[in-house]
Amino acid sequence: MCRHLAYLGPPATLRELLFDPPYSLVRQSWAPRDMRGGGTINADGFGVGWYPGDGEPVRYRRSQPIWSDPTIAQLAEVTSAGAVLAAVRSATVGMAVLDGAAAPFAEGRWLFSHNGVVRGWPDSMVPLAATLPVRDLLTLDASTDSALLWALVRHRLRAGVKPARAIAETVTAVAAAAPGSRLNLLLTDGRTVVASAAGHALSIRATPASVLLASEPHDDDPGWQAVPDGRLVEATATGVRVHALAEV
Ligand code: GLN
Repeated sequence: MCRHLAYLGPPATLRELLFDPPYSLVRQSWAPRDMRGGGTINADGFGVGWYPGDGEPVRYRRSQPIWSDPTIAQLAEVTSAGAVLAAVRSATVGMAVLDGAAAPFAEGRWLFSHNGVVRGWPDSMVPLAATLPVRDLLTLDASTDSALLWALVRHRLRAGVKPARAIAETVTAVAAAAPGSRLNLLLTDGRTVVASAAGHALSIRATPASVLLASEPHDDDPGWQAVPDGRLVEATATGVRVHALAEV
């Protein structure tokens, strides 16, 4: 299972966010503390998206382990941002290992990540995929469950559905079509983060001016709180709301 992280708050370097903490995302790529549902390391790629200003995010994705890419280490030293979404990937058996299969997936201001697996892939998703424009299916970033989940969420966002509702509706529809799936989704526009806890771990650490959401705490700060399963989190740098997924 992959690991992902989102940060909103005062500008911080990618090094501070991804490399420095004792159980950082980079460390989680080779020594995660909580890998439920298969896999032991997250070596099948990684991606980082950040917002350099008020505009659209910049994204860097690779299909190699994050620890083996000198470029991300250099970028991390010199890049700071007040909004970041990053992920390290453990490909589900049978799914392609390509740059395009690594989160974050993106469109306009949006960045998206999936931590988990869709059961019965791909057959279980045929009915939901059939609700998408054919063009969306032909232009998926990769033939993976995560890329299709992004297409399903994006289809709702394009139609003007609010982000929290787009995430909740997608989790509910996919869980019904593919029971037992793990559907921890993460979506940000650089101002608000929406995250689901559905079959996998999710923790939050909020301060008065910042928020971190992550698959697992990256340090031993007592401020980390585990999000119970079946919840949806909506967070800005200054506030966190937790809803039942079914109530969004
Ligand atoms: N199943 C997805 C993939 O293979 C998500 C990765 C994960 O959480 N293991 O890309």
